[in-house]
Amino acid sequence: MPIRQLPDDLVNKIAAGEVVERPASVVKELIENSIDAGATRIRLTTAGGGVSLIRIEDDGAGMDKADLVLSVERHATSKLAEDGLDDIRTLGFRGEALASIGAVAELSIASRTDEAETGLKLSVSRSSKSRPAPQAMNRGTVVEVRDLFEAVPARRKFLKSERAEGAAITDVVRRLAMANPQVHFVVEGPDRTTINWPGQSGEGALAARLTQAMGEDFAENAIELATIRHGVVVSGLAGLPTFSRANSLSQFYFVNGRAVRDKVLLGAVRAAYADFLFRDRFPAIALFLAIDPAEVDVNVHPAKAELRFRDGGGVRSAVIRAIAEALGAAGFRASSTVAEDVMAAFRAPESAATPAREVGPAPAFRFPPPAADFSRGFAGLAEPSARFEPEPVAAVNDAEFPLGVARAQMFENFIVAQNGDSLLLVDQHAAHERLVYERFKAQLAAGPVASQAHLIPVVVELSEDDCGRLEEAAPSLERLGLYLERFGPRAVAVRETPAVLGQADVEGLVRDLADGLAEWGEVAALSDRMEAIIGRMACHGSVRSGRRLRLDEMNALLRDMEATPHSGQCIHGRPTYVELKKRDIERLFGRTR
Ligand code: ADP
Ligand code: MG
Repeated sequence: MPIRQLPDDLVNKIAAGEVVERPASVVKELIENSIDAGATRIRLTTAGGGVSLIRIEDDGAGMDKADLVLSVERHATSKLAEDGLDDIRTLGFRGEALASIGAVAELSIASRTDEAETGLKLSVSRSSKSRPAPQAMNRGTVVEVRDLFEAVPARRKFLKSERAEGAAITDVVRRLAMANPQVHFVVEGPDRTTINWPGQSGEGALAARLTQAMGEDFAENAIELATIRHGVVVSGLAGLPTFSRANSLSQFYFVNGRAVRDKVLLGAVRAAYADFLFRDRFPAIALFLAIDPAEVDVNVHPAKAELRFRDGGGVRSAVIRAIAEALGAAGFRASSTVAEDVMAAFRAPESAATPAREVGPAPAFRFPPPAADFSRGFAGLAEPSARFEPEPVAAVNDAEFPLGVARAQMFENFIVAQNGDSLLLVDQHAAHERLVYERFKAQLAAGPVASQAHLIPVVVELSEDDCGRLEEAAPSLERLGLYLERFGPRAVAVRETPAVLGQADVEGLVRDLADGLAEWGEVAALSDRMEAIIGRMACHGSVRSGRRLRLDEMNALLRDMEATPHSGQCIHGRPTYVELKKRDIERLFGRTR
């Protein structure tokens, strides 16, 4: 076949395939244009999940006649300086969006500048455009996109339900709104509930916008980020580890005001939270990076959602440090939703439907049925599972002890403490795990970890493979205060254990480590796994659940927690304590008016 030049219409359609994937991508391009035009107010109307209608009205600079006519041409842009792609400060620059949209939908653009006496409206249908006609309007631009992909049935087939496409649009708007707190966003239409986020200005603008876009819960359970490192300014909000999610949908990344998906950033956030979260949990985070535009290439993806950092390592370490500092400053804080979850658990489901004032909340717990096991007789009663301690004589200084003063221990694991108007329940096992872990880390940073010798080595029987892996790992483990050696084909003998663990459960510890080593495979990379190993070891320290504590031991634990970074959550990201305000407790009993 002879070579021929493709007709414009087809070229546009092919380009549209890259830029316009679904209704949400149209919305993204159009709102970005409005923001580039300096809009302070953007109103989006959708119908049919954006397939039947997307309408965007802005109060930006508008276009004059010549620009309006050019705007829908391919590779027509007002945003590239002479010197090309190295210094990009606007959201658009490829000049493809309007041309592409015009190729796959009915498009109309009406626009008016400050100087113009009237607005002008231009329509594009399958890449052929009308002459501009006068249109009464205020300054700004109104773009309407109807019947998206009607002429491209192959595309339509790939669209999801109206609801899913509508949700994708909301998500796009959310990201754009987070990156542009000063802009007032309204999203409405027959296919959705209205969003109205007034513009924010001044010092707390970003936080206020994040509250609008991500919800109050997030803002209350997040810590502000603010650092500069390696020329990267990091800001935003990092969620507390206890506010983690089961998926990454609550993670938002921005570079120079552009929402992005990027492996370097994802990896950095995962690394920063690695100490606090299990692999299957995801922190909520809104991360904003400002960086010299010459240090990033945003032109690697048609929709500009991906980018490339010139110095990925520097960016990674800047992000990790910023989050680590913020979480460190949060100290023992656990998320407030934890207490709310507790309250919800106390309330019976049916009580939600009945007005509390009339009947009061139905009790969620009933008296347990008579124990089936009579053989034990009443022996169990002789040992109360709650340990009560008379109030200490010394007065409590609330400010000095945020976690309060221990009053009792329940079920051999929960410390009940009081701080002024708050009741605190502390999971002693979880808390202790964190304390041991942090102590471990501090010791390791200073050199080999101190060990204590066992008079008689503890022999642990394991499979031959496990023994082999432990033997190979022994030099690394010695740096952590664990000394073991092969003891026959199917056992190891443990001579010394890390002193921070106290009376450690040696057998459990060694088995757990063997499991870890099997899972990680490469013993060679063990030095990268030190924290994971410490995490496993910390679980086997001395104050596990099931141990009774004296009052002074409980108080010592609370004071330790206050002094230890990250002690609001255990190493698996679960909270170590919950706080119930007196008011909340009164609410349980329907006492509040
Ligand atoms: P790009 O944004 O990459 O320049 P587009 O096809 O999205 O390409 O837009 C082409 C041009 O049309 C823009 O460079 C801009 O000059 C103009 N334009 C588009 N939308 C608007 C708007 N809402 N307000 C003012 N000008 C606009
Ligand atoms: Mg654009």
